[in-house]
Amino acid sequence: MLQHMRSTWNGLNRARRERVQTEVEAAKARQAEVKAFWDQHKIIVKEQWANRTGGRGKTMVADIPDVAKQWYPNNNARPEEVSATAQRHDEAHPYLWQCPLGLGHKPWVALPKDRVQAGAGCPACRQLIRLTDIPTLADQYRGPVPKSQMNYAAHERVSWVCRTWAVTRETGTWHPVEHRFEAAVKERALQGDGCRVCAGYVIDDTNSLHTWFPEIADGLDDPDIDPSQLPTSQHNVSRKQIAGNEPGGVYATLPWRCRHGHRWKATILNRVQGGDCPQCSRAGISKEQVRLVAELSGLMKLVQPELPDSRLPDGLPNFASHQITVPPQYKPKHWRYKAVEVDAVFQIEGGIRIGVEYDGSYHHSIKRRDRQQYETEKSKILVTAGLLNLLVHVRRGDLPALKVPEGLTVPVPERSTPYQQACAVAAAIQDRFPDSVPALDDYLTRGVAQVQDQADAYIIATWGELRPPRRKPERTKVRRPRKLKETPPHQYSLLTPISTPYRNPNRYTEIVRDYRCVCGNLHPFTAVQAQVTSGNTRSCGCLRDQTKQRQRFVVSRAETQAVRDWARLRGIETGGNGRLSARITASYRLSEAGRLDALGADGLLEDLRVQHWAQLNGQKLGARGRVVSEAWLAYATDCLAQDEMDDGSAEQQPPHKMVQGDLFELIE
Ligand SMILES: [Zn+2]
Ligand SMILES: [Zn+2]
Ligand SMILES: [Zn+2]
Ligand SMILES: [Zn+2]
Repeated sequence: MLQHMRSTWNGLNRARRERVQTEVEAAKARQAEVKAFWDQHKIIVKEQWANRTGGRGKTMVADIPDVAKQWYPNNNARPEEVSATAQRHDEAHPYLWQCPLGLGHKPWVALPKDRVQAGAGCPACRQLIRLTDIPTLADQYRGPVPKSQMNYAAHERVSWVCRTWAVTRETGTWHPVEHRFEAAVKERALQGDGCRVCAGYVIDDTNSLHTWFPEIADGLDDPDIDPSQLPTSQHNVSRKQIAGNEPGGVYATLPWRCRHGHRWKATILNRVQGGDCPQCSRAGISKEQVRLVAELSGLMKLVQPELPDSRLPDGLPNFASHQITVPPQYKPKHWRYKAVEVDAVFQIEGGIRIGVEYDGSYHHSIKRRDRQQYETEKSKILVTAGLLNLLVHVRRGDLPALKVPEGLTVPVPERSTPYQQACAVAAAIQDRFPDSVPALDDYLTRGVAQVQDQADAYIIATWGELRPPRRKPERTKVRRPRKLKETPPHQYSLLTPISTPYRNPNRYTEIVRDYRCVCGNLHPFTAVQAQVTSGNTRSCGCLRDQTKQRQRFVVSRAETQAVRDWARLRGIETGGNGRLSARITASYRLSEAGRLDALGADGLLEDLRVQHWAQLNGQKLGARGRVVSEAWLAYATDCLAQDEMDDGSAEQQPPHKMVQGDLFELIE
């Protein structure tokens, strides 16, 4: 949904950018013509000046005909009386000039000698391109200076509004929105920058983490960070922040807290892509590992991870793996993290700490050689740093043994049971540290696993189930798609097909098709083709919404009486005492509002007029285009609403309509 909205936004911005470009080019072409005129003017004027016949100080403005032509008629002197050169710059220079190009430029003030000797032209002609010349941008402009005075290449940062559509996450429906942002005028006109909200640089309700991922936003562990101001995809710190030496490194990590109270740091992107609490996450531990660790906990004292797991019932040991932090002086440079994971830690007689690594088939996926080297290194470092006395690697199947004194490899057969594995591991530890596992003899005599009930309880508490559910065998029978017949929408449908018909994946017998609705709803609308063809489905739902709104087309008894009186005065037949025709009521309402222009010679609304309006506005019409009651009244309401808006209350106009107009242009 978010993806779809983003691509819709991108599409709109692309279309707008293209329009801006076209408009800028057109404006530049106009500017070029104007520039050519003034270049030519300068040449001519300089020539006329050079060929003057009057003596020193005797040349008048009138002697330079091309300048004199621009003499402003209301100047309180005539060009024949004003010297072409005898002004000083510090003097008041009261003479105005008129731009000859008919571009509506105001007369401007200039010294005759600047005009005559330097050939200076109309200053407004030099800064011809204004925002008003780029209607697409002018439309979005909300700056303080009027757009007719704003140069299109101005460096000023001003406010803009982008009218577009956004999806409501909960319902998947689209609604019109306004994006507000600031940008320099030239960035938008010359660099073609689109909406900064659409682009994700500015965050508002339409694109924030809070809106799109409320559960993730809830997990933010910093009351000072407002998730409605956060994007949905940040990963790296912006270059600006790095340049400003803001703390935090390359990754834009934020603090999070899971519902079990664990705290960790991760980027938004990481979270949105599914990264979860590392303490709660089961990545890296397997059920086999839990079963072996449980068995071993019956033989040696289990050292539990520092952070408790609140999912576990009271008294159940935590069989999860440990994150052991390696002191910086021991951390090899090529290690990315200072914490290493050890599957389990046990303590035996004499305070000896033994780590156990379960190198199950899980590790086969990782590159064998790198893994081998990493495991060797890890054993060495943990022992050298004094964090463990020994690291035991339980290796299933054909994984090669490690050859370091700090590590001990215990090979176990691929299909061995937790009991068999525990026996092998305990025996190997007993071998290295004699008499360190006194319970082993008894365990061996019993011959069966002892702690699997706890393993089961742990697995249920963390995985939620003992075994993954069986996958349903996939259907083998593949139906061959057959080309489906296309049928056109009903005559009065607002829908236009945008796909070929296809079968409803959830209901095989139903043939559906994607449509676009004329109302401006950007979301393709999927409907049963037969229903669209028969006219039972005519719109994306917008017509239904309109009908709901139409409850207000109720005619009161008092109004009915007024309509009858009005009709009688005009000789309009109202027929009996039954229900009044909606046409007459609608005509009455318009007439009362002074909208006689909307009425025909007979004092009534014209059929064709309303029919046409109804078709344009997605109003329901009866058989053969007959105008139904609702349409008459809706038309009158619409006319009167239009008047209200024209009365200067334009702000009250719902943005919806304007946005639709916008979109229509773009879609075309
Ligand atoms: Zn001009
Ligand atoms: Zn936008
Ligand atoms: Zn957690
Ligand atoms: Zn619609």
